[in-house]
Parts: sequence; structure tokens; C-alpha cells
Amino acid sequence: MSSSLSILREVFGYEQFRGPQAAIIEHVAQGGDALVLMPTGGGKSLCYQIPAIARQQAGHGITVVVSPLIALMHDQVGALREAGVAAAFLNSTQDWQQTQQVQRQLAQGEITLLYAAPERVVSERFLNLLDDLSARGALALFAIDEAHCVSQWGHDFRPEYRQLALLAERYPGVPRIALTATADALTRADILEGLQLQAARLFVSSFDRPNIRYRVEEKKEPLAQLLRFIEHEHAQDAGIVYCQSRRRVEEMAQALVDAGIQALPYHAGMPAEVRQAHQDRFLREDGIVMVATIAFGMGIDKPDVRFVAHVDMPRNIEGYYQETGRAGRDGLAADAWMIYGLQDVVNQRRMIDEGDASEEFKAVLRGKLDALLALAEATDCRRQRLLSYFGEASEPCGNCDNCLHPPAVWDGTDAARKLLSTIYRVHAASGLTFGMGHLMDIVRGKATDKVRQFGHERLSTFNVGAEYSESQLRAVLRQLLAREAIGVQRIQLDGGRAFDTLTLGTSARELLRGEEQVLLREASASARGKSRSRRGTPAAAAADLGPQAQMRFINLKAWRAEVARKHGLPAYVVFQDTTLAAIAQRNPASLADLSGIPAMGVKRLEAYGEQVLQVCQQTQT
Ligand code: ADP
Ligand code: ZN
Repeated sequence: MSSSLSILREVFGYEQFRGPQAAIIEHVAQGGDALVLMPTGGGKSLCYQIPAIARQQAGHGITVVVSPLIALMHDQVGALREAGVAAAFLNSTQDWQQTQQVQRQLAQGEITLLYAAPERVVSERFLNLLDDLSARGALALFAIDEAHCVSQWGHDFRPEYRQLALLAERYPGVPRIALTATADALTRADILEGLQLQAARLFVSSFDRPNIRYRVEEKKEPLAQLLRFIEHEHAQDAGIVYCQSRRRVEEMAQALVDAGIQALPYHAGMPAEVRQAHQDRFLREDGIVMVATIAFGMGIDKPDVRFVAHVDMPRNIEGYYQETGRAGRDGLAADAWMIYGLQDVVNQRRMIDEGDASEEFKAVLRGKLDALLALAEATDCRRQRLLSYFGEASEPCGNCDNCLHPPAVWDGTDAARKLLSTIYRVHAASGLTFGMGHLMDIVRGKATDKVRQFGHERLSTFNVGAEYSESQLRAVLRQLLAREAIGVQRIQLDGGRAFDTLTLGTSARELLRGEEQVLLREASASARGKSRSRRGTPAAAAADLGPQAQMRFINLKAWRAEVARKHGLPAYVVFQDTTLAAIAQRNPASLADLSGIPAMGVKRLEAYGEQVLQVCQQTQT
């Protein structure tokens, strides 16, 4: 058996490598440079942790891991120690004595992996330390995690990352591996250049996350829809609800709490200590729903987040993919659920139009928004569209709303043309632009006061679309916005109030001439949602367990909470749900029965085997 495979089995307790792990690990363990692009939950950590152990065993010394977040470092080191690996970190939370102790252990070659933040790694003192190690031939590997932080285009740019290029110059003989879950080509090029990894081997995994079920619904009553989604499908589950504004975060979090859900708010406007406390609770406790702006994200490697909900539309597909990617890192079923409506589209479009970016940049932003709208409006497989956006070809997935319940489609071309010609006519008649409510009233033949005030009941398009419901016309307007057949213009009123009006857009002409078609999904998506079975209760990992095994699972979780508290670690660092569920299922009577349980490595078996048996036996009686 190769030594990497035996490390995987004995230390980490897993049977087989996943996807490209074996190839990456072999390449790096032999001293090659690598850039690894792998989606969240793909298993990047082992790609440098196993080479670190193998190279240490071969006498090459320690591995330095560059990691951007202290909280993340702390948990990763905790997890490694649980598995019996000599790991340590150097960061600002330590006092002088703790720092000295780590340095002593380093000098004595007692550490396999050393974690540090980028700014520390490039500091003079740290470099001196590295010089010493290097002089003794005791510097085995550099691992640079979250490598997209080097790119200005990425969402997490960290200027210190750019200085990491000096590692290549200063320690040319030491192999380096950089890892990230960010896919796009621009960021990739930046990483290669910024870290001087041009000669590194590139390992690109599929970005598919098969266990995530993508779903998009029309936004009607956001709070009621969210409550229904959580209560019916994710009661007791940990999840993240993304909102666009701080105010909305506060409101939504409060509303969930009022409904009896354990929810916490998180946004950049909150005091840092409160934010930190909420993040810690989310990571450490079971079943917390975090209601957050996009400020909440990087480094959240909690494996059992069962859903990510968007109650407002994200800005582009990259953001949507990153945010939804935080669900289901443990590989178990998880939901990416989004609701969006006409107002989202109007808001996003206006924010771009009214921003101070250059026209060129705005065009890029509009293109990105349009791609997301196309995904939201799609009547075919969502995963296929998502992956094709990242340049990956695939078949219909069978695990998105459209694959599971193919939507009925209706032809909205006629309605679209009636709306467009109304927009054209009201403007031609008075030089004014109008809001969507008013425009829909005209098309549907509703002679409101406002319609009469402007004489719009005399327009030739008045009452030409009486057969369409308001929600049908809204769906048509969303499509028209997505295709840039209409634009948004904000009108300021006295007293600071403002409202959005619609104008004809660049691609209206083709539609008016009848050269293009508008196909729309029937608006029955939410009705279907209600009849969905209650997946994911009580916990995805335990969904298939019988009643006795459920009891064992619950008791094992209680026992784990106690261990986690004593060790000052999140529960999932001690054991993940999947491991506890496998134990509960097997109902072990002896230590031998525990072998082959995922993540039950030699060290964990030694440390916890007896206790686990006891918990299981006590559950019997
Ligand atoms: P990433 O950093 O790519 O998001 P992680 O390294 O945190 O992903 O791994 C995600 C999950 O997959 C973890 O729970 C990890 O223990 C598990 N895992 C990784 N490799 C394997 C494997 N070969 N077999 C089984 N589970 C694995
Ligand atoms: Zn699909």
C-alpha cells in the first residue's frame, strides 16, 4: 500500500481518495508545485495535509500553511490534533509563552504543519525562522489556502497575499501548493502570476456539487415563503439566509425568531464582537439559522449547513455559486433555495445604471446580471446552466427543481409586444415614463383615476391584454428586463420619494417586429413546493436510520457536544454527523466493530472508541 493511502486510512479514517486527490497528493508529496481548483467540500485540505505528513516522515521537515482567517486556523489545527497530527499555529491570539513554545517545538522538529496568516508569514521575524529551517533542510512544503485572495478581481482580495511571491524567490527548492474554490479564468491567471506558480501543475476539478438541489421560486411574500420552506423542510437544521441589506437582515432575523426559529443576524454594520459571537454560535451549536449579508462567508467551513436561502437576488452567478456552495460540504443532501421577483431585477439593474462605474464596466456588470436572470428564469436544468457558465458541459442533473418538476411553459410573446408598445405609446404621447403598475393597468384595461388623468384609456393599447393576469404580466416584464428589452429610470418626487419607471431598451425592436419569442414558465412553482415531502428531518445524516438507531444517534450527539465543549472545538471537528450516523447504524458491540467507520482513524479510535461503545450500549437499556 502506498504511504499516502495508508495515511488516509490510518490517520484520517477514510477508505479511498476522492476525485483528483490521489494525483494531487502524489505530485506534491514528490516535491512538485500545484494549483488546485476544487469546489467547496471537494476535499482540498487533505491535498496538502497528507503530503505534509508524508514529507515529514521522509525527513523533509515541516509544512507551512498560509490561511487567511484565525478562526479557520484554530478549527483546522484542532481537527488535525484530534486525528493525532502534530499541528500548531502562530497568530495574534497567542501570548509570548505560547509563541515561545511553538517555536521550541519547531526547532526540535516536533511539528508537522504550522498554520499562519499571510501578513505574519512575510514578516521579518517569521522569515528568519523560515531561513533557519531552510538552512537545516527542514522546510518541506508551503500550502497557500484560499489562494484567490491574491486576486483583485476576487471577492476576498487580501493585499498581503501578493507578497507571498517572495516565498518562491527566497526558497526556490521548497514545493508549493495553492488551493481555491474560485473558478473563473481571470482569478486563475492572477493566482498563477501573483504567486509565481506559472510552472505549477494545474488540477481543475468539476465544479459540480451534486448533493445541492438548486431551486428558484417567484417571490410573493418573502417571509411567509421562507418560513414555510424552513418549517416544512429544514426544521432544526443549520442554514444561511442571505439578504441584500442590513435592514432586511435585522427584520428577517427578528421575524424568524418570532416564529420560534433559532436565528441570528450578521452584517458589517454590527459591532465586531457581536458579529464574532454570532459566527461562533453558528459554527459551534446545532441548528442555528444565520441571516446575513454577503459579509458572512469566507472560511465558514461548517460541513452540515443544510440550506442556503436567498430572499434577495445576488448580483451575479459567481456570487450565487460561492454563497450556495456553503451548503452541504459534508456531501449530504442540501438545498440552495432562492426567491426573486420583478423588484429585485429592477433594483439590481438600477444600481448598475446609476453607479459611477465606467460604461465599459457597467456593460460587464449588466452581462453578469443577465446571466443570473437567465438562470433564474430558466425552464430547463439549472445545474447545466450554472456549470456551463463556468465552462463545463453536463447533462440534465435530475436534482434541481426544473429537472424534478419540469415546468409548463406558455408563450408570452404577444403579452410582451403589448407591454412594449404601451411603453412606447405613453412616452410618445407625453414625453413621460410610467411605473409598471400603471402600464399593466393600461394593458389590462383598468380605467383607474391615474389612467383617466393622463387620458390613457384612449390609447390604442388600452385593454388589449385583458386576458392576462397581473402575475403573468409581471413574469413577462421580468423577462423583458433580463433581455434588456426594457430599462429602468428612477423618477425623484418632492420630499425625497422616488419611484421606478420603465423605458424601452436596446433589444425591444426585435420583439416588436416579431423576430423573437418570449417563453415563460407557468406560475405554479410555489404550489408545487408545498406538497414536497419533508426531506432532511430530523437530520440529513440520520434520515435513513430506524427508531433505535435514531436514539443512538441523538445520544451520540449529546456525548459529542460534551467532548467538544471540553476541547473548546466545534462539534463537527470532533466527529461529523455522518460518522455518528454510521456508528448509530452499525450499533457496535466491540472496538473491532468500529473499524471502517468513516473518519474513525487510529487516534480517534484510541481516544473515543470505548466511550462511543458505552453510549451505544446505554441506549439499548
Ligand atoms: P474543501 O476545503 O475542499 O472545502 P474539505 O477539505 O473541508 O473541503 O473536505 C470536505 C469534507 O470531505 C470534509 O468533511 C472531509 O473530511 C471530507 N473528505 C475529504 N476527503 C475525503 C475522502 N477521501 N473520503 C471521505 N471524506 C473525505
Ligand atoms: Zn437539473
